[in-house]
Amino acid sequence: MTGQPLSRREFLKQAARYGVILGGGGIALSHPSWLLDLLNPGLNAAALLNDLAKEAPRARFWISTAMPNPDCLGCHTPDEIAAEKTHAHEQAIVKCLLCAQGCMIKQGERGKCRARMNVKGELRSLVYGRPITIHVDPIEKKPFYHFLPGANAYSLATAGCPLACKFCQNWEISQARPEDYPVDYVAPQAVANAAASRNAPIIAFTYNEPTVFAEYLLDIARAARPQNIRSVLVSCGFMNAEPLTEMCEALDAIKIDLKGFSDDFYRDVAGAALKPVLRSIKQAAKSAAHLEIVNLVVPTLNDSEEMLTGLAEWVMGELGPDVPIHFTRFHPDYQLPNLPPTPVATLERARAIALQKGIHYPYVGNVPGHPGNNTYCPGCGSVIIRRSGFFVLEMQLKKGRCSFCNHPIAGVWA
Ligand code: SF4
Repeated sequence: MTGQPLSRREFLKQAARYGVILGGGGIALSHPSWLLDLLNPGLNAAALLNDLAKEAPRARFWISTAMPNPDCLGCHTPDEIAAEKTHAHEQAIVKCLLCAQGCMIKQGERGKCRARMNVKGELRSLVYGRPITIHVDPIEKKPFYHFLPGANAYSLATAGCPLACKFCQNWEISQARPEDYPVDYVAPQAVANAAASRNAPIIAFTYNEPTVFAEYLLDIARAARPQNIRSVLVSCGFMNAEPLTEMCEALDAIKIDLKGFSDDFYRDVAGAALKPVLRSIKQAAKSAAHLEIVNLVVPTLNDSEEMLTGLAEWVMGELGPDVPIHFTRFHPDYQLPNLPPTPVATLERARAIALQKGIHYPYVGNVPGHPGNNTYCPGCGSVIIRRSGFFVLEMQLKKGRCSFCNHPIAGVWA
């Protein structure tokens, strides 16, 4: 040892080695920048961001005042334009069109998700090729209960999220900045190859909000399909229609959180809005991709009779009976450490309301061993998939039909 600070490249190589050792069940590709700072004070977040921004590829889904003939209505209301017939911008401002936050981003600044930056008038993705965590999980963990039951999903995330849910269970990465977890570049083809080498038939984009790495996930899904690897998205559904159209074509399944059936809840607890999520769910339901919905039931915040009934009626009315819906248990985390875990009786009530409204496949989630983990045939009522939490114990399905009464069961089974 010379006592000299390591170069950034050399240091990250060593950090990656620690990552494999420290990563436990999965592969932690990086460590937060505070740990890097502690181990090597020569590195700091500003320098890491500078490096990232220089290497970051141009993003898609944005407009800018610097574009030829910019459409002022992309950013301003007709009233604003009428009040000021001509207006100039001192510098190129970008409007990101990837999600419903619609961030207007000045040069050198980032959007709410922290993953996209205006670099000299061009929007760049700071998270393209930068997965910070990779695990191989059962597909039931996402959760998908009607998509290749029991299959392994090669699951990855970057930093960043457009939302700020007070109950986030992955806040360490969703609320992080890309420079908080520095990693080397991983090409889309390398992700597809890694999934194949682990015999994972599915790649899952999950943990943070994958919309923030839309360009990367689309490229990964397109690289994986020729290898017969399916790709799935685990999302809050806050993306805009155009990127979702591409996702529905490139992906095989989409799980969308319907966090609560109230705009106030979305605004106060998630920093978002209900309407764009409902729009995304309807769009995904009309596509060829398989769809499932999750409602994390948080005590006192979204567990009222009115909200649970409104949600079930909307799902039944807009999507019909066959979209699986998971009522999952909240555990105290992040900014809501003082709320109790969701009582099991509340989840059972939510499931009963959904069944009463005619939904065929409502589940109780995050309560391993509960009878609400199982899939019941809507035709004869028999248990056709018996589960305990993330694990499939028994399947009574033949070519997508109930083994007992031959009733078709919605889903992707092979
Ligand atoms: S993806 Fe990020 S930058 Fe783009 S609108 Fe959403 S929060 Fe803003």
